[in-house]
Amino acid sequence: MPRYIFITGGVVSSLGKGLASAALGSVLQARGFKVRLRKLDPYLNVDPGTMSPYEHGECYVTDDGAETDLDLGHYERFTGVAARKTDNVTTGKIYWNVLTKERRGDYLGGTVQVIPHITNEIKDFIQSDNGDADFVLCEVGGTVGDIESLPFLEAIRQFGNEVGLKNALFIHVTLMPYIKTAGELKTKPTQHSVKELLSVGIQPSILLIRADREIPKEERRKIALFCNILPERVIPALDVPSIYQVPVSYHGEGLDEQVLKYFDLSAPAPDLSKWMEILHKIQHPEGEVTIGVVGKYTSLLDSYKSLSEALTHGGFANNVKVNLSWLNAEIFEKDDNLHLLENVHGILVPGGFGERGTEGKIRAVQFARERNIPYFGICLGMQMAVIETARNRAGLNDAGSTEFGKCGNPVVGLMTEWNKEGETERRNEAGNMGGTMRLGAYPAKLAAGSRVAEIYGATEISERHRHRYEVNTTYKQQLEGAGLVFSGMSPDGKLPEIVEIKDHPWFVGVQFHPELKSKPFEPHPLFTSFIKAAVEKSRLV
Ligand code: GLN
Repeated sequence: MPRYIFITGGVVSSLGKGLASAALGSVLQARGFKVRLRKLDPYLNVDPGTMSPYEHGECYVTDDGAETDLDLGHYERFTGVAARKTDNVTTGKIYWNVLTKERRGDYLGGTVQVIPHITNEIKDFIQSDNGDADFVLCEVGGTVGDIESLPFLEAIRQFGNEVGLKNALFIHVTLMPYIKTAGELKTKPTQHSVKELLSVGIQPSILLIRADREIPKEERRKIALFCNILPERVIPALDVPSIYQVPVSYHGEGLDEQVLKYFDLSAPAPDLSKWMEILHKIQHPEGEVTIGVVGKYTSLLDSYKSLSEALTHGGFANNVKVNLSWLNAEIFEKDDNLHLLENVHGILVPGGFGERGTEGKIRAVQFARERNIPYFGICLGMQMAVIETARNRAGLNDAGSTEFGKCGNPVVGLMTEWNKEGETERRNEAGNMGGTMRLGAYPAKLAAGSRVAEIYGATEISERHRHRYEVNTTYKQQLEGAGLVFSGMSPDGKLPEIVEIKDHPWFVGVQFHPELKSKPFEPHPLFTSFIKAAVEKSRLV
């Protein structure tokens, strides 16, 4: 049986519980253990797929086609373990399952209640699909004290009793705020938060305390005393300049050692060399480049979490620091703003939904193409590139996407059927919005001799998708005639996966989301290559 670690958060949200979980997972892994990371989300949506990125940040897509919380992206980037559908659950999903069972008559006429039916469903989820993991880390979303979290806290409390506290550990992440006028870090919020947790029957055994400065020993002792925790298990989690420093820094504070002590386990010291290497690259870049990201959700950068990480990874591969210039696409709808793109070394149009900002994105593509600036289009960004070529090089002035309404030449249109592992999936305009896109890993075939085949060093690839529209192959010949090469297609040859322009320093559009699979110690080849092109561009200007 695996050992279970539950990570809860208190005082305020955004404490970085997800990163803390990912970092602990990666350090345990570096000590030779197999880990699995999970997220229990208390909100009522069945999954975050239908939520606006402004509400929820990025929606992270797994190989098996689930739309999940962005913390799963951290888990995967830090541990290299591919996240799965069974790694994220929400209150909505739990109720959905319970209500489906109720309608089926599974409860044999019983009254269906939060305790035990909802809590049992949560406990079943925690125990399912764990494979041969030594540790299962379950992060509970939200903040202790929220009404929504209660069934999850009750479930993990029961779970701890059932598997025994020898097999379950509760870690609570809190905050010590610095009060300027008093010149002190304050322990009271942490004390109250632990009290809140105790009121639902959970005594945490490790506290991970976020603070913006060194926590004095005396304060740690005070927290230990008031919260009924060993002083060495009150672990400072200080702000660090890069998220990739977190594993090394938590290890330095003794987190993994205390976890092993708690479980009475011994293991060799962790091999953190790959993290040290990354830190070295962060601290000693040989140069820097600036990438202009032309998107819609640029005021909430969590919307592009995996993307900004993947660009950073591309920098690691080229030993450069990557600066990101977030540009709201709408500003390019006015001519006089295009000069803002003059000083960037690469332009990227990321995924997105809806019409707003698309005319600005198309103009940014045109600027990149005409000025020989490396261009990377991801999902909607590929569709924008196709529309740009159609309008400006193939003479189809009214080219557009049916996502934005009717148009004369729908070079991008609604995908009504496609092949999934031998089965045909069908959709129509009137279908549900939730979970109905072309989602998850699909293979693609790359044209031999193409730029992308060279970048991947392969002609068969698999990448994660999340889209409802596709490039309309009726226009393929015409677009190819205008200089756009269709260098990647679905294996049945029906769906365009990659387009590129040959006589350009670097111009690639992909229908999938390569950023989801990039890792700091294994940067995605497309990002490595794009940043390399940006470095070359930076040498020219
Ligand atoms: N809105 C586009 C589609 O559904 C692109 C989606 C995306 O960029 N993820 O096809």
